Amino acid sequence: ARKRLLKLKKTPAVTKDGTAVTLLANIELPEDCPGALEAGAMGVGLFRSEFLFMGRGPNGLKVPGEDEQFEQYRKAVVAMKGRLVTIRTLDVGADKPLDPTEHTALNPALGLRAIRYCLAEPQLFLTQLRAILRASAYGKVRILIPMLAHAFEIDQTLAMIEQAKTQLREEGVKYDPGVEVGAMIEIPAAALALPMFVKRMQFLSIGTNDLIQYLLAIDRVDYEVAHLYNPLHPAVLNLIAQTIATGHKAGLDVAVCGEMAGDPKLTRLLLGMGLREFSMHPAQLLAVKQEILNSDLAAITTRTRRILRAVEPNEIAAAVEQLQTL
Ligand code: PEP
Ligand code: MG
Repeated sequence: ARKRLLKLKKTPAVTKDGTAVTLLANIELPEDCPGALEAGAMGVGLFRSEFLFMGRGPNGLKVPGEDEQFEQYRKAVVAMKGRLVTIRTLDVGADKPLDPTEHTALNPALGLRAIRYCLAEPQLFLTQLRAILRASAYGKVRILIPMLAHAFEIDQTLAMIEQAKTQLREEGVKYDPGVEVGAMIEIPAAALALPMFVKRMQFLSIGTNDLIQYLLAIDRVDYEVAHLYNPLHPAVLNLIAQTIATGHKAGLDVAVCGEMAGDPKLTRLLLGMGLREFSMHPAQLLAVKQEILNSDLAAITTRTRRILRAVEPNEIAAAVEQLQTL
């Protein structure tokens, strides 16, 4: 079966009725890029930049400076040979502290993490933004911001990106002035107040891992409640579908970059919701592509509408399974 999948590497990801789908890779380090290309990725949809910062030295205190970050981002951009590279800004803090001696929050998932941490540490954030912008001179880069919920966070972030650009311009350092900036939609409030985001952002990427955690109030790393972590909960499905539709209506590209995007059992459900951009672990790419190649979009879309109206978990699970037999 694996051999059969490998044959699909160069086949374009197009549904039976001719709709093109973008398949991107989630990576942690630039070294993951060759593997992503090998799996047929059309680009990187999520570069989890925190992996450059984590596990550094005995106490994790030595964060990489601008030049070192720039080299790593550039390495990824060059390795992808002109394909899109979406670099997510630092998603640390709370449970992944840069300084482990700092106080630990009682509810780390609700604490000072990701963009909240970056806006509280503007020097660190500016350094990363400068490094990403410098790398944008070598290919097609997008900047993705994690954990946004408030309009002022978006505005502050955009102002800092402008500040980084101004600095580089004044220093005569090259960057791509057209770099797109997008938001991770992974806090329910962001999904429910999406017009606030589409006005300010150029693309969206739905982080289903955190979106489910916050929507269902299930700690994603707590095994005692893992059985309650259900991507098919009707509230989850409807919020994802609504986010895709609202984003598209505003003319924005919308991706899913959480684990759901890499689950071939959910490929058709997401297609039926209108999703056309999937970002996943490279190991999942060909299996998801195979689902897409065999998909009849019209039939799937009609069925998905029905699934979104269903409220009984058994009914939803059975209908999602049925999508695969279409
Ligand atoms: C997500 O939350 O779905 C996501 C893609 O980001 P992470 O898993 O790194 O939090
Ligand atoms: Mg997340």
